[in-house]
Amino acid sequence: MLSKGDFHIHSNASDGKYSPTEIVVLSKINIIDVISITDHNTTDGITEAIEAGRNYGVSVVPAIELSTKFNNESVHLLGYFKNCFYQVDTFQEILKLIKSHKYKEIRKILENYINLEHKEGKLSVIEGINLLKCFGASVVLAHPMHISNKNIHQVLSFPFDGIEAKYSNTDFKTSLYFMHIALSKFSFYTAGSDFHSINNKNSKHSFLGTVYLNNSEIEHFLKNSGAMLLN
Ligand SMILES: [Zn+2]
Ligand SMILES: [Zn+2]
Repeated sequence: MLSKGDFHIHSNASDGKYSPTEIVVLSKINIIDVISITDHNTTDGITEAIEAGRNYGVSVVPAIELSTKFNNESVHLLGYFKNCFYQVDTFQEILKLIKSHKYKEIRKILENYINLEHKEGKLSVIEGINLLKCFGASVVLAHPMHISNKNIHQVLSFPFDGIEAKYSNTDFKTSLYFMHIALSKFSFYTAGSDFHSINNKNSKHSFLGTVYLNNSEIEHFLKNSGAMLLN
């Protein structure tokens, strides 16, 4: 039985301090039995996390955090993969191009797969959603409580599958508000600490497992997202 799941964690494959293996060990020590490594615009840490997870008895849901823009505000999307499509060359090529900010090239590839909203520049929210869905992810709006009042209403009108209602340093009432939106408008909610390192100077992030889904919430998330659980 999975009783504690943290679905938003960064490894040193992006801007986190610890390797995927170290994160798995930290999860084991802290009695977190299912995790997602959600590195910024890369899936490079996933394979190591799955391997370490098998050694230490920690389940892994493969995932990513994708950067998009809405009205000039940065909006992060979490993608939880339902299959291995994320490993295909095209998706990996797109991620590499995002890393090097080559949006023209990205758009050239993407136009073969999804409808593009813009001709240039960073990915918009809807383009990001469609990109992740195209490569097999169930898409969650990351930390909605940090999106400006000006934009949140419109952002919530996009076709997400779920919302990250439980997030680090978020009071219960705010989480409850987003849980309500998640269950009434979308199909599930997730929880994430956005763990980056032990000595974190950014008060938005917290320690592994400080925010989590419990057993019935994990089951609801897995069932409604269709995300793969590797153990
Ligand atoms: Zn984020
Ligand atoms: Zn994050």
